[in-house]
Amino acid sequence: MKVKSQIIGMEPYKPGKPMEEVKRELGLKEVHKLASNENPYGASPKAKAAVQQAVLYPEIYPDGYAADIRQAVADHIGVKASQLLFGAGSDEVILMLCRAMLNNETNTVMASPTFSQYKHNAVIEGAEIREVPLKDGVHDLEGMLEQIDENTRIVWVCNPNNPTGTYVNDEAFQAFMRQVPENVLVVSDEAYIEYVTAQDYPNTLAYLNEYPNLMILRTFSKAYGLASMRIGYGVAQEKLVQSLDPVRPPFNTNTIAQYAAIAALGDEEYIEECRIKNRKELDRLERYCEKKGLSYLPSQTNFMLIQTGVSGDVMFDALLKKGFIIRSGEALGYPDWIRVTAGTSEQNTCFLQALEECLDEQKHSVKG
Ligand SMILES: *Cc1c(COP(=O)(O)O)cnc(C)c1O
Repeated sequence: MKVKSQIIGMEPYKPGKPMEEVKRELGLKEVHKLASNENPYGASPKAKAAVQQAVLYPEIYPDGYAADIRQAVADHIGVKASQLLFGAGSDEVILMLCRAMLNNETNTVMASPTFSQYKHNAVIEGAEIREVPLKDGVHDLEGMLEQIDENTRIVWVCNPNNPTGTYVNDEAFQAFMRQVPENVLVVSDEAYIEYVTAQDYPNTLAYLNEYPNLMILRTFSKAYGLASMRIGYGVAQEKLVQSLDPVRPPFNTNTIAQYAAIAALGDEEYIEECRIKNRKELDRLERYCEKKGLSYLPSQTNFMLIQTGVSGDVMFDALLKKGFIIRSGEALGYPDWIRVTAGTSEQNTCFLQALEECLDEQKHSVKG
């Protein structure tokens, strides 16, 4: 048996450690997962209730066109239903874009570090990857423009960026769009948009009419608290969406996810509450870092990158022993940093205490 040569030796996606596994391995009663940027407050109670309803007919195929959630999203963000492409998470929309547009005669441009799935899927399709390092922690859009040539098909702008939490502002985004050739797709991945509070964050929906080469990605996995359901979508001009639709697997979003997403979308108050609580907790993490003289990147998401000055892997193990699953910065291009999801107020109180203990232990082990 022979897989494509570019897949040989490729690492599968490494998810954050599952909580139950950590509990078992370390004999801990309580474990907090602050690794995958899930909503620490969970989904809206309305979404949870909708799941109970949707689960009653497991034998019936889902609506492949996702008509109800399609209309709900269209109304919510003010576009036509035909402008939406649904996926089993926005991960699947990324996969579909790569499958539809990339091969070994093309290239794709992205930041580094950024969300891993752009590169992962592009490599599978055999495309050349052109990575442009972040500049002062932010997408270097000018540098990315320079990498575009006649073989470029997709440029990825993760906004706000994962793993840094930083964002591209409206002025920079607009200047970028004006210069990207019209036959090159710009993907604005807005997985964390519900958490954004910056006033100069671009309202990309307003640019869709002007740019046939713009696609926006959104997800129900983060602020909406439906990560386990696997549903997200892309928004673009109708013509682009139609040309991509043949790549979509027939029943790619399931009934339970569709119902849960409709209910979640209808509870804007809940999202607003989560955004406010999240901002408060981010502020707390920032204040702690300032007090301790730790560098951090200001975040527009529900996670933060913090420079502990200790190997990210060492901090990962040390925090794990205290019941906190975070992300080491080592695999994210920030070796002595950690990425932590902003938890609830209670979780963050315990987390900051654990972090303090770990940092003290490190200091002593270095001196001793
Ligand atoms: C989490 C995340 C996604 C994908 O989420 P899905 O669960 O597949 O919808 C996409 N982009 C970024 C930047 C993310 O952080």
